[in-house]
Amino acid sequence: MQIHEDIVAAIGNTPLVRLSRLHPPGNLVAKLEYLNPGGSTKDRIALGMIERAERNGWLQPGGTIIEPTSGNTGVGLAMAAALRGYKLIAVMADKQSEEKRALLRAYGAEVVVCPTDVEPEDPRSYYSVADRLTRETPGAYRPDQYSNPANPRAHYEQTGPELWEQTNGEIDVVVIGLGTGGSVGGIGRYLKERKPELWVVGVDPEGSIYTAETEADITTYLTEGVGEDFWPETYDPDIVDQYEMVTDAEAFATTRRLSEVEGVFAGGSSGMAVVGALRVATDRPDDLVVVVLPDSGRNYISKIFNDDWMHDNGFI
Ligand code: PMP
Repeated sequence: MQIHEDIVAAIGNTPLVRLSRLHPPGNLVAKLEYLNPGGSTKDRIALGMIERAERNGWLQPGGTIIEPTSGNTGVGLAMAAALRGYKLIAVMADKQSEEKRALLRAYGAEVVVCPTDVEPEDPRSYYSVADRLTRETPGAYRPDQYSNPANPRAHYEQTGPELWEQTNGEIDVVVIGLGTGGSVGGIGRYLKERKPELWVVGVDPEGSIYTAETEADITTYLTEGVGEDFWPETYDPDIVDQYEMVTDAEAFATTRRLSEVEGVFAGGSSGMAVVGALRVATDRPDDLVVVVLPDSGRNYISKIFNDDWMHDNGFI
């Protein structure tokens, strides 16, 4: 029998699909992380962080998990919290889509919304609010995906080995959007241990710190879940061999082409990563290039897939 004992047991083993309509030479392949049960790659790290906290006694039965999240980590945490009897408070920036908030509430989480246009140190920022709620709530535990070693470890233990096995070790280049850096760190480190010449490309939205040359280059942008305005502890710069910077306009146009041309309905950070991957796959025609698609287009129906929103923001 092939029966998972619960929904979290269905996390992982997501498929690889060749993107030969977008890139006819055929050397570009996508890992569809949005087919995880919670709809994103973050299911992997959410479960890893909860299990680490349980092992260390940081999370007691009936405890409260508090996390600042762009939504996907929240869904992963909410799924596992529901199964294990924890309460989840998700603290989100107001640029995140309404769908993401509604989704978290559907899993039974409480959602706190904070302004996007403030510095991380500002008491109104979603990082600061999460800190304060953690101090004020008895039995609260904050996984903090930005510093938690269980974040990159989940990708080192699962996503990296899956990519290795699914390509029979023939993967030459892996292209990954940069957020906390957990994906690139875990996947990149595992694959480089197996194949030292493997090339790791980090893709970053224009306005984020990873590809900013000066402070003035760090600005706001609309691609969700990727880029940062500070250096997270989970980010290991030694793993990334090449950076690609992508604008919101490029990311969103390619996000739409992915569903229209390939039938792959993924989110804006996926479109962004594919823009970077198309550049690399064109530059390296003899290499097998794999790009990671973190979440689903369902999170962005009122934004990237909405002509009014795209028009109001100057993208069409
Ligand atoms: N895309 C989306 C939609 C995300 O939510 C995240 C996580 N913030 C990422 C990409 C980036 O992944 P990571 O945090 O592992 O760098």
